[in-house]
Amino acid sequence: MRVLVADDDVTSRRILEAILKKWGLEPTVVSDGLAAHAALVQPDAPALALLDWNMPGLEGPQVCRLIRRRETSNPPYVILLTARGEKGDIVKGLDAGANDYVSKPYDSEELRARIGVGTRMLELQADLARARDALAYQASHDALTGLPNRRAVLEALERELARSAREDGVLSVAVCDLDHFKNVNDTWGHPAGDKVLNAFASVVKGCLRAYDVVGRFGGEEFLLIAPGAKPSAESGVFERVCRSVAAASATTEAGVITFTVSIGVAGVCGKGEAEALLASADAALYRAKAEGRNRVCYA
Ligand SMILES: [Mg+2]
Repeated sequence: MRVLVADDDVTSRRILEAILKKWGLEPTVVSDGLAAHAALVQPDAPALALLDWNMPGLEGPQVCRLIRRRETSNPPYVILLTARGEKGDIVKGLDAGANDYVSKPYDSEELRARIGVGTRMLELQADLARARDALAYQASHDALTGLPNRRAVLEALERELARSAREDGVLSVAVCDLDHFKNVNDTWGHPAGDKVLNAFASVVKGCLRAYDVVGRFGGEEFLLIAPGAKPSAESGVFERVCRSVAAASATTEAGVITFTVSIGVAGVCGKGEAEALLASADAALYRAKAEGRNRVCYA
């Protein structure tokens, strides 16, 4: 683990550097508060810092204060090291955002134990961050296809609508519904149906431009958001999806399954409401189904 040592006293620095190395840590050593702050705000900053109180540039507690003001999911663990052992100083140091406080001259075994506490805290913090990221991912993605789920794709739609209103741009949405999907499940079984959904998701992803979004709206229904695309055959993207899906197949335990999709497209120019847009796209989808499926209809 990398540890930042900031101390203006050359002897203290050398001793700390040597003992940290002996304990298997990787010290980065600086001699003033400004350099300490700079080292701690880097993208790949040391996770733990030993900061002297009195240093030129910025004092240890000032460095703590600046670090704590930053929004980050992995703040460093900071131990203040100082000869100022008065209760008032300890309170001031901890108030500034230090995690711990060791008085100089320190006992090296005590320092080692306190670094051990810091290491455990950092591990807990990293575990929490991972768990939070995993939950955020699960809350916004469909477990089967890995695509954004209904909530996430509706959020994306709101964002894109706000953008099209702001920039007076064009925005199209497409409701895509796999044709006769109930038959797939009934004939080939649900595991095969899942493979078809996955195959569909990967075909659609392959047809999109970098700024398009596709999400699973529910069941065999998917929502495609295409900023800048006109809601007509001219834009090409929806026809491409329809053709590519018809040309694709899913290899399942039950055999190779081909499938098609019906797509209803609606668009806005400038300001628009999600609900009205989706209702228009749904009506167009209904027409695509009625006209024989495996086609794109525009509102
Ligand atoms: Mg000093």
